[in-house]
Amino acid sequence: MPTNQTFVIVGASLAGAKAAETLRDEGFGGRVVLIGEEDARPYERPPLSKGYLRGEKGFDAVAVHSADFYDAHDIDLRTSTSVTALEVGSSEVTLDSGERLGYDRLLLATGATPRRLSIPGAELAGVHYLRSLVDADELRQAITAESRVVVIGAGWIGAEAAASARRLGAEVAMVELASVPLERVLGPLVGAIYRDLHIEHGVQLHLGVGVDSLRGTGSVEEVCLSDGSLLPADVVVVGIGVIPRVELAQAAGLELDNGIVVDEHLAASAPGVFAAGDVANAFHPRYGTRVRLEHWSAALNQGPVAAKNMLGDPTAYDRLPYFFSDQYDLGMEYRGWAPIWDQVVFRGDPATREFIAFWIRDGRVRAAMNANIWDAGEPIEALLLSGLPIDLVRLADPDESLAALAVPAKG
Ligand code: NAP
Repeated sequence: MPTNQTFVIVGASLAGAKAAETLRDEGFGGRVVLIGEEDARPYERPPLSKGYLRGEKGFDAVAVHSADFYDAHDIDLRTSTSVTALEVGSSEVTLDSGERLGYDRLLLATGATPRRLSIPGAELAGVHYLRSLVDADELRQAITAESRVVVIGAGWIGAEAAASARRLGAEVAMVELASVPLERVLGPLVGAIYRDLHIEHGVQLHLGVGVDSLRGTGSVEEVCLSDGSLLPADVVVVGIGVIPRVELAQAAGLELDNGIVVDEHLAASAPGVFAAGDVANAFHPRYGTRVRLEHWSAALNQGPVAAKNMLGDPTAYDRLPYFFSDQYDLGMEYRGWAPIWDQVVFRGDPATREFIAFWIRDGRVRAAMNANIWDAGEPIEALLLSGLPIDLVRLADPDESLAALAVPAKG
């Protein structure tokens, strides 16, 4: 392995840290520079709306590696450092200190940034976004058992933050334009399960309604909805989606389309440049199209795949998409990709909150979510990978083996 090369990773994120780890695991002996804007070493984001937000987990439990890992692996971790420019012609990046750093390979793992509210009062104190460790620390400080929390957006951040705020004893209202929480990914039927779950746990839901303005003197006191309702608030949590951070790539002239365009090897449109994680809109061989996955598992698994490709070992990223969510006593895993579907089939009674939901398109299972059932991951994955046409009656029958459905029928 060459020792005179420099591999630069922009984004000391989960994707970036796993790429750096893989470079060393694969025997790369050159220089590895891992650059991040935040002052913390790389950490995982899923706990920030769950256990970390509730104070049940500390930083060491969410960090990707131990504090001594980077020195021990000769990884030059530069925290509190921004990359201000990328020159793909001369293969170098410029840091905020003015230092210029040449690279032989570059990985962009720049992630995404929360979409901001643009309504009157959005800049008031007490309005929080939840993306970084600092955001989570500030929100944790703000929420007490006496707080009146209004969550804007019932997507993943909103739903998980609302559940955590209830667990901390706060009064919680959640506002969402769609008719149920999590509608875009899960659809109305499964979204309704989350609607009922939040109502049962005391969240006041305002569905099918927008937010016109936030009011307060200095800090937020009231959220004004488009139906005329006024919600008292000391804390507002905004979770209305994220925007991929493409500024560097854009200025460098890389091909963009809903993120940085990369092929199945996570290679971008300039030589030696790769992208992974939330920012990467990667061609997915299984789906024959580009898919940008804003989830923990893509960061976790694309980082290592990018590293292998940086080392010249051609490796396609073709994993099934996966994510999980824990809200109150409902834990779930979701596998697959179903941007559109014909119907949803349940195995088990959704009312018991122990079930598997399958998203069906053209007679095949495209995605599945196991809720409070923890031994179904492998057969579900096999079923999705099989791509076989499916008998919906057998699929819904808990007495039928899922593993058997993943194997072509004989004869
Ligand atoms: P998200 O899951 O995309 O949800 C955003 C929600 O806000 C959507 O329901 C959206 O509706 C709604 N919305 C958009 N504009 C709005 C407005 N002006 N007023 C009210 N509602 C509005 O994004 P997120 O919850 O902000 O999460 C950020 C990222 O973190 C996402 O990529 C998410 O996947 C990830 N994340 C994942 C997990 C997990 O995997 N468990 C947990 C937390 C965060 P439309 O869909 O109709 O636009």
